[in-house]
Amino acid sequence: MEPDNINLDELGCELHELIARLYPIHRCISGDGVRETLAILNEHVPVEVHEVPSGTQVLDWTVPREWNVRDAYIKDADGRRLVDYRRSNLHVVQYSRPLRRVVSWDELEQHLHTLDEHPDWIPYRTAYYSDTWGFCLSRRQYDELKNRAGRPFEVRIDATLQDGSLTYGEIYLPGESRDEVLISAHVCHPSMANDNLSGLAVAAYLAKHLSTRRRRYSYRFVFAPGTIGAITWLSRNERNVGRVKHGLVLALLGDEGNTTYKRSRRGNAQIDRAVEHVLAHSGSDYSTVDFTPFGYDQRQFCSPGFDLPMGCLMRSANGHFPQYHTSADDLDLVKPASLADSWSKCLSVIELLENNRVYRNLSPKGEPQLGRRGLYELSASRQDGAVLQQAVLWVLNFADGSRTLLEIAERASLGFAVIREAAELLIRHDLLAPCEKTAAQENLSATTPCLHASPSSG
Ligand code: ZN
Repeated sequence: MEPDNINLDELGCELHELIARLYPIHRCISGDGVRETLAILNEHVPVEVHEVPSGTQVLDWTVPREWNVRDAYIKDADGRRLVDYRRSNLHVVQYSRPLRRVVSWDELEQHLHTLDEHPDWIPYRTAYYSDTWGFCLSRRQYDELKNRAGRPFEVRIDATLQDGSLTYGEIYLPGESRDEVLISAHVCHPSMANDNLSGLAVAAYLAKHLSTRRRRYSYRFVFAPGTIGAITWLSRNERNVGRVKHGLVLALLGDEGNTTYKRSRRGNAQIDRAVEHVLAHSGSDYSTVDFTPFGYDQRQFCSPGFDLPMGCLMRSANGHFPQYHTSADDLDLVKPASLADSWSKCLSVIELLENNRVYRNLSPKGEPQLGRRGLYELSASRQDGAVLQQAVLWVLNFADGSRTLLEIAERASLGFAVIREAAELLIRHDLLAPCEKTAAQENLSATTPCLHASPSSG
């Protein structure tokens, strides 16, 4: 699982190119934009597309009618398009009802949304599950309309809102174990780059990478519209979610902010400890926050009836950067280096989970004589040899069949990678053995000492 052969500069550029290609597409919680997006992701890694008909009951919700827009505008009395959907799909409030009318300024004004503090930006607004319509526009456009307030306006939303389906995509990569790592990214936002395209791109490239690797866990990637899509997925997979041992919701991974990790509802799940360990040893600043029932689809996955061990990885958190949910969340906001860094951190977390096993020292009575085995003067052989030397001693002492390597790394305040390397070194010298009988052994519990290991007492 080593990303040694990955050029992160190139990867960052590829991620940015993918985002640039997806950016113009008009996505919503249903409709052709989601299908088009999944079709492009499918060019990188096979995505299974699911369609769930409108009207389907999903948990406490109902799949809504499907919404698609062909065109929309506000014209002045001279026929000029002052607000034009062809220039930005953010102009139409998502799920606005189809409309063609002549309206007065007083009426029109009730349906306009602007951002006063950023006069050139267009806000992003939705009106799911309500029968209304609206336009989002820059403050400058608003002022232009207002200047013509004495005359009528023509408003048109050339859209369809009818029975169809909700679309979501899934990638399943079977591993040695049926235990799953679930990675989810929402797919319902129109032209915004960080929210949600960065999450989709990073997730797709993680899937692409993992598809070529040997996997201990099975991996499931879900690309579903926010809230209703996650609820639909949970509803259709209720019987199997027990297989999810670790999970991450990915969003907002492309801006230049520091990484933010929002813990699972449980707060101390292995995923929480794994992510916090990776971030603590990443060499960059980061922050961690406790779970709250707000924000992305963690809300659904961590609802009390499921309570899946899923955290949420972001850079600047939702609502904590000015471009959030505006037209300024554009291709300049997301940076190749940030995207590659986020991808790399996700992969480090996955590597940790893949290799976080319980081992037993096969020579636990006294320290084994390391010098005889060439394991005593590691500091002479390489620059970080002194750290590896320490790691060897930590692993020998604490690999007593009751602790995972992550717990040993935490106890030693050393990075997981060097603890893992020490373990591999000791295995090669027959001083350490995994407690699992097979790599596929499921539900490994760190708190239950392994009784079936085969120390060299035999
Ligand atoms: Zn959003």
